[in-house]
Amino acid sequence: MEKFDLIIIGGGPAGYVGGIRAAQLGLSVALIEKYPHLGGTCLNVGCIPSKALLHSTELFHQLSHGEKHGILAESVKIDVAKLMERKTGVVDQLRKGVRMLVEKRKIAIHTGTGSLAGKGQVTVTPEKGDAYTIEGKDIVIATGSAPVELPFLKFDGKDIVSSTEALEFTEVPKRLVVVGGGAIGLELGCVWARLGSEVTVVEFLPTIAAGSDEDVSKLAERIFKKQGLKIDTATKVTGASKKDGAWVLEAEKKGKAVTYTADKILVAVGRKAHTGGLGLDKVGIQTDDRGRIPTDHFRTTAEHIWAIGDVITGPMLAHKAEEDGVAVAELIAGKPGHVDYNLVPNVIYTHPEIASVGLTEKMAADQKRDVKIGKFNLMANGRAIAQDATDGMVKVIADAKTDRLLGVAIIAAGASEMIANAVAHMTYGGSAEDLGRTVHAHPTISESLKEAALSISKSAIHGI
Ligand code: FAD
Ligand code: NAD
Repeated sequence: MEKFDLIIIGGGPAGYVGGIRAAQLGLSVALIEKYPHLGGTCLNVGCIPSKALLHSTELFHQLSHGEKHGILAESVKIDVAKLMERKTGVVDQLRKGVRMLVEKRKIAIHTGTGSLAGKGQVTVTPEKGDAYTIEGKDIVIATGSAPVELPFLKFDGKDIVSSTEALEFTEVPKRLVVVGGGAIGLELGCVWARLGSEVTVVEFLPTIAAGSDEDVSKLAERIFKKQGLKIDTATKVTGASKKDGAWVLEAEKKGKAVTYTADKILVAVGRKAHTGGLGLDKVGIQTDDRGRIPTDHFRTTAEHIWAIGDVITGPMLAHKAEEDGVAVAELIAGKPGHVDYNLVPNVIYTHPEIASVGLTEKMAADQKRDVKIGKFNLMANGRAIAQDATDGMVKVIADAKTDRLLGVAIIAAGASEMIANAVAHMTYGGSAEDLGRTVHAHPTISESLKEAALSISKSAIHGI
């Protein structure tokens, strides 16, 4: 039986990153992945293909709306097959890169489904061939997550789909209803709307992008509506049936029945931890009420078995999964390993992008914290005006007494890059004044973050 210091089940951002860090620290590592490609949800059917489509469709949108810049591109057309070919190329390139990195670290890749077989043992069942068992001093579960299905909207892989199929449509759906106005609903809703689909996003909560600060979510809703997306918030989808070749969704809005007609329905109501067939019962691990593996600093209730990424509590994000991977490898190697979940940024890659970190104004109020708020509107930012990107704002929340930064929320072109600046300041315990006194290059949209921080002490230069 092959023996390793560490066996990792799942080759997504949590698993492969954890494997690389463990190998850097001198451990022998086996990485078990059931699919032929490493990279998990994020690389194969998540972050990367969605960002490739968002980029291509934004380019299409810009080209088709270039008149005021003097760009008169007539009859700009979209070739969906080519668009998908490029997306696949991007994914392929990164798949090769990840495999190369893992192999260079001499990590043993086992292709097959991993299941716990008892103390220190994992059985690998390849798609073809016999199952075999390997041994590890420590085992990390990094099996990720899968889309949540609604009981009355079962995925059929064709008309009622999850994000995986919505990244693969071979033609632009005439009418697309998106159930759920979170990250997936907004990103993929925007992709298909930009290509001419009539997209309606139906969200159960009072705002879309519900994890963001309310000011930002409300502004996002106005901006996306202006872009042509139909958005119905505070609306609960309750049923669906097929009539005359089209789908009719039933929903309830403020006690009133509403219906939507759709050719395709994207159900994007969250993801759930993936633990099926892992054999958790063999080692006495019980999942929580949401199917996640309970952990304490990544340790499960079973000795020498750890869990990381989407399969445990915390934001279901690739960068969080990666940080979990690094921390668990360091802990297993006897070093300190830690992730501060309060400082994990959240980004929705629409145009403009929505990015946030730390507390929202409501969270601060719920915690009865005395805070000061600074805001800056992109209408007063030179770079935003120059590049026709004035739709947006920045909001900074700081402790009223100490001025320590507690939260930042941004809706702006390039917000995904800007938020790193806020995270860095917050990681080192920075204050709004620290951020406000940091020199930002001019002209950049990032200057609006500095100005929002300055506005806390009423010293914003370009704001009144
Ligand atoms: P996963 O990436 O799900 O990887 C788990 C791996 O384990 C999979 O490869 C699976 O095949 C394998 N596996 C499962 N069970 C077994 C088993 N028994 N044996 C062997 N292998 C097994 N996050 C961001 O931060 N930014 C984004 O822009 C972003 N965009 C997204 C877009 C979409 C459409 C989706 C669906 C998700 C997106 N996410 C994004 C979320 C991100 O993909 C996840 O948070 C991240 O992939 C979680 O990493 P993980 O390693 O924990 O799990
Ligand atoms: P989500 O939790 O972000 O949003 C789901 C939305 O669906 C919620 O707002 C919820 O209120 C709504 N909803 C639930 N039931 C409903 C119903 N019956 N009718 C109408 N609305 C309903 O989940 P998601 O968008 O599916 O994304 C899944 C996970 O993947 C998330 O954890 C997300 O963070 C991650 N992800 C991240 C990114 C990114 O970082 N850019 C992109 C895509 C996905």
